[in-house]
Amino acid sequence: MTAQLLDGRALAGRIEESLRAEVETFAGMFRRRPRLVVVLVGDMAASGSYVKSKAAAAERVGIDAEVIRVPAETDTAALVALVRGIARDAHGPADGILVQLPLPKHVDTVAVLDAVPPDRDVDGFHPENAGLLSQGRPRFIPCTAAGVQRMLIDADVPTAGRHAVIVGRSDIVGKPLALLLASKSPTIGGLRGQGGDATVTLCHSRSENLADHTRRADILVAAVGRPNLITADMVKPGAVVIDVGINRIEQDGKSRLVGDVDFEAVREVAGWISPVPGGVGPLTVVMLLANTLLAAELRGK
Ligand code: NDP
Repeated sequence: MTAQLLDGRALAGRIEESLRAEVETFAGMFRRRPRLVVVLVGDMAASGSYVKSKAAAAERVGIDAEVIRVPAETDTAALVALVRGIARDAHGPADGILVQLPLPKHVDTVAVLDAVPPDRDVDGFHPENAGLLSQGRPRFIPCTAAGVQRMLIDADVPTAGRHAVIVGRSDIVGKPLALLLASKSPTIGGLRGQGGDATVTLCHSRSENLADHTRRADILVAAVGRPNLITADMVKPGAVVIDVGINRIEQDGKSRLVGDVDFEAVREVAGWISPVPGGVGPLTVVMLLANTLLAAELRGK
């Protein structure tokens, strides 16, 4: 049996459609558009292309986006000052503020992220937003985690009582996703009780016998950053496999993007599988737009 494809690109397109209408309603009410300000430090190719796709998607739904580029040598104090200035609207009204990660090694990432006011933290990384999520009353949910949950809901994958195994415990993906899938009867997009109430196992680099955990998963999410970490023998037949990983590899003299899952082999075992690219990536971007609109609505004016 070949798994059904979880087409993140198509789903993101549908969510964009409805966001576009909501943005128009906001613009009609407040006589302005939601506005996102992105800080891009240095000239890493991957970060540049993520920022470009975020800005292009914002434009498609009618959200204004400004990218502020600063040199890689910029130090922590200067970046904190820049973010605080953006938060005072020194660069125009900023409903959402996003600092593209990773920052250069010499920068204190936590100090810079903490300078983003929690009510404009559209990445959902501020401790206040992380705390709200952990208490089951989320405001800004980290975009990738929200995207994975949305993917499951859209495919009508039941989560209540099912065993979800997440490999990767980062603050930006694995940990918030564990909280979301374990959350009590959440209401998402008007649907009550979907996308939550799962029994969650959170694995990481110190987990022993990883395959023993993954083989028990009804829903398996890989968010590590290692090509082919998840092989077919690690997957329960019929399981839903979501691949968050993004890895650039050289193959046959060409550079290409792959996830953490051995896609071709695992698709013969799984019931559902998300591809890379075209899976979680586009949903991450569209969830950022949803958070920016929410930030604008919370701010009003
Ligand atoms: P991090 O490097 O912050 O976290 C990786 C996690 O994987 C850690 O918890 C680490 O464990 C765990 N890990 C590492 N090696 C193993 C192993 N051999 N077995 C089990 N667990 C392991 O990464 P991110 O969470 O930021 O990103 C993960 C991946 O997702 C990356 O490929 C990234 O590019 C991609 N990504 C994709 C997005 C999208 O939109 N599709 C968005 C964000 C990220 P420990 O905690 O013990 O170190």
